Amino acid sequence: MNVADSERIRSLLLRDGYQETADMGEAGLIILNTCAVRKHAEDRALARLNSLKHYKRKNPDLIIGLFGCVPSFYGEKLLEEFPHLSILCGPKGIGEINSLLQKAEKGERVASLNGKNNLFDDRCILTGKKKAVFLPIMQGCDNFCSYCVVPYTRGRERSKPSLQIMEEAENLVSQGVREIMLLGQNVNSYGKGLTEKIDFAGLLKLVGKIKDLEKIKFMTSHPKDISQNLLEVIASSEKIEKRLHLPVQSGSDSILERMNRGYTVKDYKKIIKNARELMPKISISTDIIVGFPGEREDDFRQTLKLLTEIRFDSIFAFKYSNRPKTAAGRFPGQIPQEEKERRLKEILELQREINRAKRKAVQKIL
Ligand code: SF4
Repeated sequence: MNVADSERIRSLLLRDGYQETADMGEAGLIILNTCAVRKHAEDRALARLNSLKHYKRKNPDLIIGLFGCVPSFYGEKLLEEFPHLSILCGPKGIGEINSLLQKAEKGERVASLNGKNNLFDDRCILTGKKKAVFLPIMQGCDNFCSYCVVPYTRGRERSKPSLQIMEEAENLVSQGVREIMLLGQNVNSYGKGLTEKIDFAGLLKLVGKIKDLEKIKFMTSHPKDISQNLLEVIASSEKIEKRLHLPVQSGSDSILERMNRGYTVKDYKKIIKNARELMPKISISTDIIVGFPGEREDDFRQTLKLLTEIRFDSIFAFKYSNRPKTAAGRFPGQIPQEEKERRLKEILELQREINRAKRKAVQKIL
């Protein structure tokens, strides 16, 4: 979503006559688009912001903007903490970039944090020749997983009307795009709250009808909302990529419950079984969090066991990162850093073994 937001910021600026430069010393405007999902990403963004001070000293007219989830999370106090900063803008304020810039050019220090939900005000603009693009179909999330900041930074879930998605997709294809990645925090719940009656499977069918569009990808799916009908639509379309990124997060039911994920390990395994029955060659990847508060050694072993049972094609594993405002940040049983590191190392080593074994099996077949 962040990459898609950066592309949206970039395309709005290019449309208004800005030009890109690879030399920061030459820039009149520098925008940092940030992520707050883990503390490490946030620390890096703020360190980078600090390092821009000397550009501002050299060029007092330089406008520096901090965009994305970090400003949305911490608000206007960032303007006090970073006097060289002119613009603060959360993910929901991107559509206001021009008015923010106009004010900043007059020397004002401005913020657009949780104001209008204007994701759908402007259309996806193509800058340069591209074969593959991201197309956001929704914003925000209603799931409130206990460890996650997204509902606080991106707000509640809103789906883009299908008519607008089709108009944008057709326009992109007419300009030479052949591959579209439909994006949302939880694409499987697409359609909720719209006046039209449509779900994600219905949207995939519609987009699949666009002539000359060759490939459709999507991200991210939530196990609690994935339906058999959706799997069947994916299986039956030649255009839809046979790849499912389905974050499981843990192999322990008690941890999944504390994470507020809304499914059990049994439910998850059933989805994978159904997907593989319909599409034997489907590639399946997942996200795992190790060291969630209260995760006992036995819970962690259950996650390792799940990995050996499912044999994912790839995993993205992370140490739990305690985020303010989230419920899990207040849970007892926070796991020491070194223990989280040990668990992460072990899980990554197991996945490497699985990958090696899979590669060997492929070589044998070849
Ligand atoms: S589904 Fe959960 S983890 Fe994903 S964005 Fe929503 S709250 Fe965060």
